[in-house]
Order: sequence, then structure tokens, then C-alpha cells
Amino acid sequence: MSGPWLQEGPHEECGVFGIYAPQRDVARLTFFGLYALQHRGQESAGIATSDGRAAYSHKGMGLVAQVFNEDNLRPLQGHLAIGHNRYSTTGISHLRNVQPYLIETIHGPLGLAHNGNLTNALQLRQSLLERGVGLSSTTDSEVITQILAAPAEVWTNGNNKNSTKTETDHWINRLQALMLVAEGAYSLVILTRNAVYATRDPLGLRPLCLGQLSNGGYVVASESCALLTIGAKYLREVKPGEILRLNEQGVTTFVGRVSTRRALCIFEYVYFARPDSILEEQVIHTVRQQMGGQLAREAPAEADIVVGVPDSATPAAIGYSLESGLPYTEGLTKNRYIGRTFIEPDDALRQLGVHLKYNPLTSNLKGKRVVLVDDSIVRGNTAGPMVQLMREGGALEVHVRVSSPPVRHPCFMGVDMATYKQLIAHNLNIEGIRQQIGADTLAYLSLKGMTTAIREALAVAETGHCDACFSGNYPISIPVWLFDENREKPIFEEMWG
Ligand code: SF4
Repeated sequence: MSGPWLQEGPHEECGVFGIYAPQRDVARLTFFGLYALQHRGQESAGIATSDGRAAYSHKGMGLVAQVFNEDNLRPLQGHLAIGHNRYSTTGISHLRNVQPYLIETIHGPLGLAHNGNLTNALQLRQSLLERGVGLSSTTDSEVITQILAAPAEVWTNGNNKNSTKTETDHWINRLQALMLVAEGAYSLVILTRNAVYATRDPLGLRPLCLGQLSNGGYVVASESCALLTIGAKYLREVKPGEILRLNEQGVTTFVGRVSTRRALCIFEYVYFARPDSILEEQVIHTVRQQMGGQLAREAPAEADIVVGVPDSATPAAIGYSLESGLPYTEGLTKNRYIGRTFIEPDDALRQLGVHLKYNPLTSNLKGKRVVLVDDSIVRGNTAGPMVQLMREGGALEVHVRVSSPPVRHPCFMGVDMATYKQLIAHNLNIEGIRQQIGADTLAYLSLKGMTTAIREALAVAETGHCDACFSGNYPISIPVWLFDENREKPIFEEMWG
């Protein structure tokens, strides 16, 4: 993951966090939870809390550690909190788009943090404007906030079949109504005066999990790494279509909207999630290692050593090494903090490209035939310089192996690869890409191989994942006009940016 000026892989748009913890400093816990989720969004961060009487919030542009300090954390009082890291995919990167949103409603404060993209956001936005609702930002997340601010009947014509029979919680009814009208990807954490709510879209496109604090209290987070960071125990995933309420009664589960399909984003396994996080009850590192092993079976190479592009391709490189018998070797040293700055490099520094971030370990590479394992090639703007770096380090041959299939289709569900023009594999065949990046050979993991590796790592007979950027099979219907091959910028940016 890198700063905005050194873009390499695709970017997830957000990390979300929610907590109910009496007698604890929930703002501080949320800060550390967001810190653990920093890889999911690096443009802005925010926290909102509630003490049962009023709500408080602080948010700003930049990394978590740049936005918060002791002085602005201290006023965030209460036993309930939500937090958000943002990487913008809808709405320009601007303070008014920073989450959580916090508004006043007839039932008290309503705060919202969202990970995902609604594919029908434009229609919902139009519908809100026609009803006289003013919007202050350009994001689909504000659209969700305003839908929740209205009584459920407004959106269901009094016809909410899911409406809970045993419980008069208006927030549950509103969430159920939202889930009837919202299409696309959403993992949400919601702050109200007396509870935190969490929900996932019926397909489960974006991850969300539940944990428990040892001395009382519950936590939800995009990834389990955030739970462990604050000393919470991982309990389980929030089920697709489920609504959870966290308050003094503990965790209560409600049916939001049921679907028989599952479509967790498969790119979580390829690149997004932290290797120590648990998804579908398996550690990400294990899954990536299995994908590397499958890659070695499908695409062996005559070589001396295996090198992974740090850090996200390291587990796949280890898997490739174990399966092929070729030694795994450190070949690149990464400056882990170079992308964590928002200070722009000048033109001369910019031309250094990947040199700003990686240096070759010449002593390990010199005179060697290298298998260079990367997790994905999306735009192709860093693969070539990485190959060149290997050669500068003394590698005799560079055989690039990619532990996922070619990305040929845009993502409309919240990942910043929403145009065909951005994707090198849409525009070139594999031989064309090989020539462009200057590798001696190039091979990708097949789609079938990736599915098999994930199934074996999860020890399940069937999986349900979105793999649309590889296969073109979208799990939800995408408006035809979004598939414009000549589009330069993602549609959301063009219309709202
Ligand atoms: S299209 Fe690709 S990046 Fe987007 S949700 Fe599906 S698998 Fe994930």
C-alpha cells in the first residue's frame, strides 16, 4: 500500500470500527482500532462517540496519527463509538466527505461509517433531493445516512415485510428498509444515542467481524487485526444481511435482508486484508501461501531463487518456494514509511519511481535467475520498474509470477479500478504485458486455480466470492451505461467529483 502519489495496486476504500465498552475510553480504543486498519484507507480518518446524552466527533484529512492527538481525543466522551478510515472512491477527497457522518434526527444523534459502494447511489440521491433532503457531500455514504434519518415507511410505503415483530427498535426497522432499497456493497457501523449497530450487505461483499472485550463490551471491525490490537477476542464474522446491535444488553442479532448468494470480494485474499486477519475463519496468510503453491504447480520456472514483492506478495512467494523447492530469498528492501507521508515528492524525486520505496538486495540477487512473485498486476505501472530493479540488483533472468488472474474488468463495488482504460490486462494480452514490463517470462494464477487454492485453504467444498474483476461475472446487476470502455475516470468521480 502506498501514498496517493505512488500508486501501485488497487485501493480498498475504507476501514470501519464500532465499539460498546462501558467504563473504557472508547475514543482511544477506536483510535488504535483505526490504526490497525490504516491499510484500508489513508486519506482521512474520524471518530464519533456517544455518552447516552450527546454525541461528539472529530475527523480530518490524513492518516489516523495525523488527525488525532491527546487534545482532540479527550473531548470524545462516552461508552459508544464508531470510527472510519477513508480511501475515496466516490466523492472527491475533501473534508466534507470525511466520515463518520453525524447528524441529529428525531430519535437523537445518528452517526454512520461505511465501507463499500452503492451501485444505485445516483437514483437514491435523486430520490432524496426530490423529497427535499439537502446533501452536503458527494458520497453514497451520506445518502445512506439520510435514508436512515427518515422513518422506514418513507422507503417501503409501509410495506416492510422484514419489519421486526418482537422489538420496537426504530433503528432496526430503518436498517431493514435501507437494505430493501440499497444495491451494492456496504459494511456499516452506526452510532445512536444508546447503541452501536453494524450490518453487512446481503451478499457480504465487504468484510465485517465481531469481537468481545475481556472486561465486558463488544467490538465490530472491518478486519480481525483491529480486534486483537485492542485486546478483544475474535468471535465471528457478521453474517451477510445480518444486523447487530451492541449495547448494555450485549450483542443482539436481527435479520436484515436474506440472500442465498454469497459474494465476499476475492481481492481481500489477493491483496487488501492484512495477512494476520481472519476471513471466513481462516488466516489470510495461509490462504495466500496456498495460492502461491498453486501458482508454482501451474507455472513452474527454471530459476535459482524466489523473491516476493514486499509485503503483500510475501506469503504467496513463500508458498511458491515451498511447492517448487526453490529457496525463498529476500530480494527487495522496502522503505515501509515512504508511502505514509502526504508530503509530495518534487519532480526529480518522482522520477525515481519505485526506487523511492524499494531497493534491491544486490548480494542476494547477483548472478541469480529470479522468480519474482507479485500478488496482482492492475495498471502495470510498477511491474516494469520492479523487473528493472531486479536486473539492477544483478539478476540474470526475471520470471514474473502473479498469484491472481489478469484483472480485465472494472470494479463498481468500492475498489478504485472502475474503468477499463486503467487495466493493463484489458488492453494487452499476456505476451504484450510481458514485453511491456520487460520480464523473461510472465504467468498468472488461473481463475480456477485461485478458487481451488482458496477452497482448500478454507477447507470447504464450495465458496461464494465476487471475482468479477477477473471473470466479468458481477454478483449484482450493474447499469449498462457504467460499462463504457472509453471512460477515463470512474463514473462516480465524473458525476460528483
Ligand atoms: S470486482 Fe474485484 S475488487 Fe470488486 S468486489 Fe469483486 S472481486 Fe472485489
